[in-house]
Amino acid sequence: MFNDPSSIEEAVNKLNKVSPSFCMAKWMNTTIHLHLGRTHSCHLPPTHKIPLKEVKKNVSALHNTQEKMKQRKMMLEGKRPKGCKSCWDIEDLPGTHYSDRHFHGQDCWTTPFYDKVANSQWDTPINPSYLELSFSAGCNFKCSYCSPTFSTSWQKEVEKFGGYPQSGAVKHHSPLWLKSQGLMPMKDEENPYIDAFWRWWPDLKKDLMFLRITGGEPLLSQDTFKTFDMINEEPMPDLEFSINSNLGIPQVHFDKFIHKTKGLLEKKKIRHFMLHTSVDTYGPQAEYIRNGLDFEQYQRYVERYLEEIPGGSLAFMCTFNALSIDEFKPLLEWIISLRRRFRQKGRDIYLDTPHLKYPDFMSVQILPESYRDKLQELIDWAKEREDPHYGIKAAEILKLKRILEWMKEVDQWDSSQLKQRDVSRKNFSLFFREHDKRRGTNFKKLFPALKKFY
Ligand code: SF4
Repeated sequence: MFNDPSSIEEAVNKLNKVSPSFCMAKWMNTTIHLHLGRTHSCHLPPTHKIPLKEVKKNVSALHNTQEKMKQRKMMLEGKRPKGCKSCWDIEDLPGTHYSDRHFHGQDCWTTPFYDKVANSQWDTPINPSYLELSFSAGCNFKCSYCSPTFSTSWQKEVEKFGGYPQSGAVKHHSPLWLKSQGLMPMKDEENPYIDAFWRWWPDLKKDLMFLRITGGEPLLSQDTFKTFDMINEEPMPDLEFSINSNLGIPQVHFDKFIHKTKGLLEKKKIRHFMLHTSVDTYGPQAEYIRNGLDFEQYQRYVERYLEEIPGGSLAFMCTFNALSIDEFKPLLEWIISLRRRFRQKGRDIYLDTPHLKYPDFMSVQILPESYRDKLQELIDWAKEREDPHYGIKAAEILKLKRILEWMKEVDQWDSSQLKQRDVSRKNFSLFFREHDKRRGTNFKKLFPALKKFY
């Protein structure tokens, strides 16, 4: 979204001058899950625990943990931190391939800080310019691919009924396993990381260019609204402020969100606002995937946001999964209609379709082969509606094509990978049968084309 492809080579050369594994994102980008006391930079490596004793000495340890500083040291010395495997895998492919490390080298939130970082010592703390933050796991949804780690509704369910039955080594929803991994959220009122964050805020805000609040459901958290108030009191005119929301919140919260966002934009207290909202297909099928969603209310809220916040952009985040394909066309039709009604200078309506990899029982790679034809048909339909402003964008069609290619990778799999797919297929059935039993839903009625598969 923010990259300029013409300068990528320049960015690569500049990064490689420091070292062949140097990555600006390790310094300037961070995701901090305050509700878990965990962080990572960037979002690709696994998260690690933020030791409270480090935070007590220096609140910026919410980002600058000893663990992360060791990774920075390796990068300055040209060594490769293991957690960054997804970048090394791409860079090691034959030919020229660009990894996220390369792309981040030209992002607007890294370039102003290049000299500062390149000339710093590995153990010098630094404030991020791009921060993704969760205050709380408080959430009223139980999306099928989510887990108790990010949703208190999920947490309550597994504490009452236990994890879902699964075959093989999968422990995705097991409360005991999640606890042992430090992946069960803390109670908001007992969370020392939130206090530390607010102590860090006056200093942190100085270099911040992007702030994105995620969750849980951020618009159910008092701390999200406190952030709006803090920015209102001390404006950050260079900030791009974003919120991720399921838009399934009570009206009183939605009204408050609209009111506060309008205030920040009209008085130019931030540079731009972006609402990221998740939906993975259309109508009742979307409600099935994201348990708790009321699709009609969701549409009303999206349209109200676009009407009442003319300066704010919107991004649909579609985690493209095994249940997305059947009703994806109506979703695209709705997005086209929104672009025709609401697109204007200074605001856009984006669509991102990252394909779901985990939990693997919901990935499109487990689907019967007939689904490749369905996806191809969807791509052909989208191509007929290609338009950079008021239709489907070329990059969005390309993403769908990549998903199709990824589905077809199964043809190259060896017998052990195919065996693993059989386990995933079994888990698909086990999970949704239990889902229907616990939550009173009816898979076969909503996904008749997958009845036999189920
Ligand atoms: S090297 Fe890749 S995975 Fe590691 S921080 Fe940079 S962009 Fe992220």
